[in-house]
Amino acid sequence: MRTGLFIDGKWVSPKLGGKLDVVNPATGKVFHEISAATEEDVDHAVTAARRAFNGEWPKMSGAQRGQYLRKIASRIRNRLDEISELEVLDNGKPLPEAKWDIGDAAGCFDFYAGLAEEYDENRVETICLPDARFTSKVAREPLGVVGAIIPWNYPLLMAAWKVAPALAAGCTIVLKPAEATSLTALELAAIAEEVELPPGVLNVITGIGSEAGQPLVDHPEVDKLAFTGSGAIGAKLMAAAAKSIKRVSLELGGKSPFLVFDDCDIEKAVEWVMFGIFWNQGQVCSATSRVLVHESIHARFLERLVEEAQKITIGDGLADGVLLGPLVSKIQLERVVGAIEKAREQGATVVTGGRRPAHLAEGYFVEPTVLTDVPLDSQAWKEEIFGPVVCVRAFASEEEAIALANDTRFGLAAALMTSDDARAERVAAALRAGIVWINCSQPGFTEAPWGGYKQSGIGRELGRWGFENYLETKQITAYVSDEPWAWYIK
Ligand code: NAP
Ligand code: MG
Repeated sequence: MRTGLFIDGKWVSPKLGGKLDVVNPATGKVFHEISAATEEDVDHAVTAARRAFNGEWPKMSGAQRGQYLRKIASRIRNRLDEISELEVLDNGKPLPEAKWDIGDAAGCFDFYAGLAEEYDENRVETICLPDARFTSKVAREPLGVVGAIIPWNYPLLMAAWKVAPALAAGCTIVLKPAEATSLTALELAAIAEEVELPPGVLNVITGIGSEAGQPLVDHPEVDKLAFTGSGAIGAKLMAAAAKSIKRVSLELGGKSPFLVFDDCDIEKAVEWVMFGIFWNQGQVCSATSRVLVHESIHARFLERLVEEAQKITIGDGLADGVLLGPLVSKIQLERVVGAIEKAREQGATVVTGGRRPAHLAEGYFVEPTVLTDVPLDSQAWKEEIFGPVVCVRAFASEEEAIALANDTRFGLAAALMTSDDARAERVAAALRAGIVWINCSQPGFTEAPWGGYKQSGIGRELGRWGFENYLETKQITAYVSDEPWAWYIK
């Protein structure tokens, strides 16, 4: 386990010597410490990233950069078990889920290695102009120095979603992981060191948002900010970015609806809803947090969902058979328990859960929670809870279901269950969300774009869309005629 900051290819101590405790959320106990970077360290890292951007890295071929990415992928895979266990200690999630994440992170580096290789062939494109006296080419170029700020829900995976495409494109990067979960980002830095990534190409600075994140947001030498986290910080970051016209991509979460129609298999719907809201303890930007069920099957669906929710094994993510681990931190526990209390006050019924499990007093655990009678104007219906808490509500018609689903300031994801293909197509088209899942909920693929409509964010990550985030576009136009231009000479 690392403690330093990784800047310019070296492990360094923070200038002011700050340290932060690393807490295991399953026990509430401190088991390590990391560095708390401040403005001077951030400046050091950005300066290193700028120097690296002025060096060989952006000039290399995509295939050369792809080789580094493939080596990173393979080293992550070689250490999958160990890195997954570290992720569980830091974040709390069940080990099998951590293994998915770490495997996906490796896959993300491989995928962008492939795009880096393809980039050599399609980096420059000739375009046809309507005036034969000119020829023109369009070149894609790396955007520059990237500041990446990520959350704690998928620590290494969120790092990979930003670091892999940025490096593939030829950018250099300063990554600030979330204070609560920095350990695997530091392992990524260690892997970058092992594969001899040129100094300054990837820098990892740990610390708290206001002290290590804000200076990165404000730094004039950062060309682009890539952020995943809360809407409040996203808005702040966008406003700060405006001062120097930094490029910004934002992934800000949602309140994603799941529409269960009366022609679907209730058992399958229950299974996908369970996965959609209880995996990763519901700390998922696209979590299935508002379930809309046709009134004719609402009672049966609710009964089955509650039965299954009550069977979930809660415990330490490293223990066998655990499906629900602790929330990431004490603060997150307080937020989620507070949101459930507020829901009760505002008229919701807690059908099951709603409390910390009595037998797990030490860690930051919350029972799987199902709410009904949730008023449409209440916080529980409108705001992200980011915990294992689902609101279930009946609808009478397809039109009503769509209207309820879209009645939100968010638009990250939506899902629907139906056996009618025409309905699936119709409803998918009507849902205002960046991701629509049909007869499933949550599966993500590195190849497919990820991001939201409305206040869920700006831009798309993953796939070739995620690569675009890190490229500039340059037109190179030549005058190839012997004729004088003759603007003023007749
Ligand atoms: P957050 O405050 O938005 O944190 C996200 C990242 O931004 C962290 O790395 C954080 O650092 C950093 N940060 C905080 N203040 C900053 C600032 N002034 N300048 C630059 N960076 C800053 O999110 P959170 O407090 O961890 O979680 C709050 C809520 O956000 C959750 O309950 C959930 O609703 C939402 N959320 C959404 C996602 C998502 O995937 N879209 C992920 C996580 C959380 P530190 O954490 O180290 O201070
Ligand atoms: Mg932790």
